[in-house]
Amino acid sequence: MSVENQARAEESRAFEADVAKLLHLMVHSVYSDKDVFLRELISNAADACEKLRYEAIARPELTGEDPKPQIRIELDKDKGLVSIVDNGIGMSRDEMVDALGTIARSGTKAFMEQIEAARAAEAEGTQLIGQFGVGFYSSFMVADRVDVVSRRAGTDEATLWSSDGKGTYSIAPAALEDAPARGTRVTLHLMDDARDYAERFTVQRIVKAQSGHVPVPIVLVEAPG
Ligand code: ADP
Ligand code: MG
Repeated sequence: MSVENQARAEESRAFEADVAKLLHLMVHSVYSDKDVFLRELISNAADACEKLRYEAIARPELTGEDPKPQIRIELDKDKGLVSIVDNGIGMSRDEMVDALGTIARSGTKAFMEQIEAARAAEAEGTQLIGQFGVGFYSSFMVADRVDVVSRRAGTDEATLWSSDGKGTYSIAPAALEDAPARGTRVTLHLMDDARDYAERFTVQRIVKAQSGHVPVPIVLVEAPG
């Protein structure tokens, strides 16, 4: 194996300390409203489509034959899976390590203090999540494993990020046929008490209530039962 190939092999990494703390707080906080995870993932998917649209102004080849942004929500009731798939900008391996293993935002400390205070007061923490933009990690309120497979626009490399949200994540090259042609698929392995999120009616209700203003079309697809 060449040095370069070694660097590309599967690795297990620890979350940055702040992320680990945040994940712990999230999973153990009493949210009355876990539904927000879906809004956060849809908003990330829409952001990714917007980033692609912007980059494609200078580099039209990035969108190629698939210029229309789209968000797909795939439901598999039997397996207890819900996936949010976008054909946006996607992430390289390095971008994934950065975006999904650290918290680069200065508001995080303040967020954690507030969430701890809210928890002490048994208050609702949901508002805080949106406010401080710790969106992606809210997946772990309903999932005991999250897989993210991504392929950055204009590249022919795909990467799989996977974690149970308990301190470490793995990152490895993915086969192109397992990744979207461009963009990102986030798959949540739902906890037993959260399997309702693989139901069409539940997801439709939440999307309608929380993501009505998203400027990208959202389609819902159910696995054949
Ligand atoms: P925020 O959206 O406020 O930046 P998040 O925790 O929701 O925070 O997401 C963290 C980062 O992960 C995003 O800024 C982005 O760089 C990356 N990311 C998450 N989801 C996607 C996606 N679907 N496509 C591309 N990048 C994504
Ligand atoms: Mg976000």
